[in-house]
Amino acid sequence: MFFRKKEGPKLPREPVKREPPDNLWIKCDSCGEILYKKHLEKNLWVCPNCGHHFRIDSSLYMRILLDDGEFLEEYATDLKTVDWLNFPGYGEKLKTLKEKTGLDESARVGRARIGGYEVVFFITDFRFLAGSMGAVMGEKFYVGAMKAIELGIPYVSLTASGGGARMHEGIVSLMQMAKTTVAVIKMEEAGIPFISVLTDPTMGGVMASFAALGDVMIAEKGALIGFAGPRVIKQTIRQDLPPGFQRSEFLMDKGQLDIVVSRHELRDTLVRILNMISSRQPL
Ligand SMILES: [Zn+2]
Repeated sequence: MFFRKKEGPKLPREPVKREPPDNLWIKCDSCGEILYKKHLEKNLWVCPNCGHHFRIDSSLYMRILLDDGEFLEEYATDLKTVDWLNFPGYGEKLKTLKEKTGLDESARVGRARIGGYEVVFFITDFRFLAGSMGAVMGEKFYVGAMKAIELGIPYVSLTASGGGARMHEGIVSLMQMAKTTVAVIKMEEAGIPFISVLTDPTMGGVMASFAALGDVMIAEKGALIGFAGPRVIKQTIRQDLPPGFQRSEFLMDKGQLDIVVSRHELRDTLVRILNMISSRQPL
């Protein structure tokens, strides 16, 4: 078909946006491939081209891992964060994040089933102040541990915490490192298995306390795991860091992890471990 161009008043030209709409296509952070969002969702947010694991929120992890996609019973929902330092902007930040994420805090804990096995399940969410640990997260972890001991069932924790200890709560947030460590020791004394799943990223005070203390240490592929980040370490020691430094595979190589799995294998891996643990438990 051929159309003759009609003469008309000259209008200023608007730049044509050729970018794909955000809600349909997503660019892979790792390989740069443009991916169809629906395909990515179906693939559990793992890039089909390079295997990069996108960060996902706690509700999606729960849908992937838990039998009913949710807790059977959630614990410690009445805990409220207190801005006891009057840290500038903290109160407003909490309010905004609550509205944005629908979460009260960066962690949730409750009783759940994985492959038919009853566990206490604890999870942190990166969207909420980078999954950092304040008084509420520490208390939730502790409550979960006490429930696991009371019920005599394993404790599974999944962390996505780049923030470590939360600076807005000062020393109280650092105290949670000791508190959660005590919780793990109490579980050990009671013979309760503790499985720690580390996802991208698990850093700082979270990794320097309970997250590193699992009887079984599982990490998702390519997750950044450590205390101080690679940039800080590089600046401090003034040396180049080896390739893959602080990534799951690197830590596996150094003996800090038991298993590194893709997101697709995570649920089956947990079920397998829970099965092994159960068979070993005395009746
Ligand atoms: Zn990719």
